[in-house]
Amino acid sequence: MFALIDSHNHFDDAGFDADRSTAYRRARAAGVEAQVLAAVSARLWPKLKAVAAGYPGLYPCYGLHPAYLAEHRPEHLDQLADWLSRERPAAIGECGLDYYLPDLDPDAQTEYFAGQLRLARRHDLPVVIHARHAVDHVIKLVRRFAGVRGMVHSFSGSEDQARRLLDLGILLSFGGPLTYPKATRLRGLIGYLPLDGFLLETDAPDQPPSAHPGQRNEPAYLAEVLACVAELRGADPAEIAAATTENVRRLFRLPDAASPSPH
Ligand SMILES: [Zn+2]
Repeated sequence: MFALIDSHNHFDDAGFDADRSTAYRRARAAGVEAQVLAAVSARLWPKLKAVAAGYPGLYPCYGLHPAYLAEHRPEHLDQLADWLSRERPAAIGECGLDYYLPDLDPDAQTEYFAGQLRLARRHDLPVVIHARHAVDHVIKLVRRFAGVRGMVHSFSGSEDQARRLLDLGILLSFGGPLTYPKATRLRGLIGYLPLDGFLLETDAPDQPPSAHPGQRNEPAYLAEVLACVAELRGADPAEIAAATTENVRRLFRLPDAASPSPH
């Protein structure tokens, strides 16, 4: 068992309401000693805050997810600024662009994403980015806000896009999709990324790994993502675990495992 951090999930999701404590214990038993919880809409920030405060090692992010565009209002960006000042979360997110789902106006998505990149600079916080069928546009916007740090969660772009994001100081995160043999491009990519350039995530309850198709994903399954990455790189899992845990701690400025978190 290795010390791991789930760099991206939605442990506050209603899908965990019935058994959150057992799912949390399973994650700890699997070596997942911290989790970074990404928000989706202003309506759900208070619940996310309560869930993160309820267990050691859970770190909240606050933001406006592009897939929840219908819920967002311009004043939510002002409310987000207040939450960032007051709560000092691990990051802003999840934010970004989704050109895959229908009926999400690209201009409105861009407004909210740019607004959150602006807040990231002003509050000196990293961004957790969702980029689905929109990696090039995400790169363009991140460039406009030079100096912003962050990660693209569940990266699914090309080698060229990966390189451009790393050049901008944006890390890439990988989870369940990598564990499916048919994900050949993704599995090729993980083989040669620099060790300080990527993170491991579950995106639970979404994107379950190949051993649990169609089921609810859990933070505990992060160990399966680790095993897959180690195998694809022909590396020692201990080395991958240590590097990715250090990467996520550095990006989100998380306290050291040795010092108990204030949460
Ligand atoms: Zn997510």
